[in-house]
Amino acid sequence: MSEATATTWTRAEIRERLAVSAVAFPGPGALSPADIRRVRAAGFRKMEIRFSPSRADYHDPARLAALADACREEGVAVVSIHGPDLKFDAQDEARRRHAVAETVLAARGAQQFGARVLVAHFGTGDRSRRSVCEVLEQTANIPVRITVETGDIAEVAALVRDIDCDRLGMTVDIGHARDADRLNPFTKPGGAAAALAPCGEKLFHVHLHDIALVDHLPPFHGYIRWDELFVALKAAGYAGEFLFEVQGRPAQVARSVPAAMLRDALREGPMPAVTGALGMSLFDILFGRPPKTEDPCQAKLQRLLRSAIVQLLRNTTRATTGEVLKAVAAFPDDFVARYHSP
Ligand SMILES: [Zn+2]
Repeated sequence: MSEATATTWTRAEIRERLAVSAVAFPGPGALSPADIRRVRAAGFRKMEIRFSPSRADYHDPARLAALADACREEGVAVVSIHGPDLKFDAQDEARRRHAVAETVLAARGAQQFGARVLVAHFGTGDRSRRSVCEVLEQTANIPVRITVETGDIAEVAALVRDIDCDRLGMTVDIGHARDADRLNPFTKPGGAAAALAPCGEKLFHVHLHDIALVDHLPPFHGYIRWDELFVALKAAGYAGEFLFEVQGRPAQVARSVPAAMLRDALREGPMPAVTGALGMSLFDILFGRPPKTEDPCQAKLQRLLRSAIVQLLRNTTRATTGEVLKAVAAFPDDFVARYHSP
């Protein structure tokens, strides 16, 4: 049994910080005490809940209290809350203020759960900056830290440092990062350390998931260099949880799509019948490379095709909720088996 060094985590250290987002449960319908029980049964003691009117309604303190009770009963700590998606940079001032007010409400909801971190997609422009500052002012007496989810890590780091408030930090989403070449730095040799460098002590929280043709995949199902990422997190002195934001699918949807057919099509090349007609490869379509046509009908067709393919891939490549929970719960063992001693 070896001790953790300055650059590695032990299995126990990873397990202790392991957390899973409730986005593993795709809905529809509200997040329920039964979902919390499944999280605990899969071996987790920490989770993140995403607030939205349909899944966990932060306008309804009684409902939140019932969910918070279920978490306490199961021994699952809600470490973070993902706030609702809102237009923090809206040109319309009423709409921007509404986003701020809703986020203050979400911070109160986070307090109900005893969550220490609130995550929101604030953005980084001037209006976003104003929204962040207003949220900080209006939550000054709520013991919840506010984080700006990335996006562009360097841009968010600059905003957070510039506002310079102890309660403000960053949530780095490793799947959303892109270098100037449009590739994800966490898939490149040496990329993780470089990508995290601007964060310093402002790295409060992370969203972890794997990426291939789609994102929010379970670990080791895509191209993320998990070893380099964890070495970089250790080197950065990261003190938060390892929050896996991994999406599940209801079993019936995952089964209803002819996955084998799609896999064959991808293996044999870029669906020649369809993509040939558009003069684009499947890769072009998926990653939205500039269309080779000025024809608006053709462009529309490309967009439709892209969303159809992405939808198909989501349904086929994402595991069911049960499989997702299992894959994340096994992460500490798999990680150590691949890269490190216990
Ligand atoms: Zn995220």
